[in-house]
Amino acid sequence: MKHVIALDVGGTGMKAALLAQDGSVLFEARRPTGREHGTDAVVAAILDFAADLADEGRARFGRAPLAAGVAVPGTIDEENGIAVYSANLGWRDLPLRRLLGERLVGPDGSAMPVALGHDVRSGGLAEGRLGAGRGVDRFLFIALGTGIAGAIGIDGRIEAGAHGYGGEIGHVVVRPGGPQCGCGARGCLETLASASAVSRAWAEASGDPDADAASCAAAVDAGDERALAVWRTAVDALADGIVLAQSLLDPSTVIVGGGLAEAGDTLLTPLRAAVTERLTFQMPPEVVPAMLKDTAASLGAGLLAWDLLSMEVTA
Ligand SMILES: [Zn+2]
Repeated sequence: MKHVIALDVGGTGMKAALLAQDGSVLFEARRPTGREHGTDAVVAAILDFAADLADEGRARFGRAPLAAGVAVPGTIDEENGIAVYSANLGWRDLPLRRLLGERLVGPDGSAMPVALGHDVRSGGLAEGRLGAGRGVDRFLFIALGTGIAGAIGIDGRIEAGAHGYGGEIGHVVVRPGGPQCGCGARGCLETLASASAVSRAWAEASGDPDADAASCAAAVDAGDERALAVWRTAVDALADGIVLAQSLLDPSTVIVGGGLAEAGDTLLTPLRAAVTERLTFQMPPEVVPAMLKDTAASLGAGLLAWDLLSMEVTA
């Protein structure tokens, strides 16, 4: 069976798979990233995991994986295969594609082709081809997690922009002069509508320091007025961000994922209404939940590996 390595490197854990050409998962594994041991140890853990996955493929299918796709957080130079910067994992200008290529041997004994991708854009790619965006040629994927990230899907690929920052809807300013954002600006969408922002606001409103976005959603469902106010703030900000994106990109579908989207209809029902009431001439997007959950980036990394092979064939 022809297969590729799919590997998603997260802040705390790595998720991996061996992926068939149709996107089906042939084998799955997870390992800690080991960030507490330092950046060099993280890089070694990535290379070891990839090499073990190649061995797994050889043992299971009698041949090495054809290629490897690796998704990492932070700023990525996809063209040159360089992990430019990750605050979380500590690297700068890490030539990850070269390091993986030196470690991994393909079926014909030469260096295995390696694709390096951005974690959220890889997740968006997988949602677009295998998940909630299947059959949709223009979509916006928004991940509401610790921060807010996004990916612009066009005709089966993700638009990364000229400098690799395309889709960063979390840093659209929706409340000028609003809360300070980690990026240096004020009032960015992610300061108001990320899972972390909702957790912080709900902890303050409820007086419970352990309160989080999930408990806020539960309190919203129970009709708690304080929770409803917190939720409203997040939903309104998110709707403003989506309407801005709608005016610029006109996607047919907005796919909402990440921790806050676990709230399901508690989030999506008021969000759809808030988006619709803000639109004037724009066509309303369909607002749908992400389907692939925390395996999206790993699956997307595998798709990048398959794309790399098909480009080599057509080149
Ligand atoms: Zn920002």
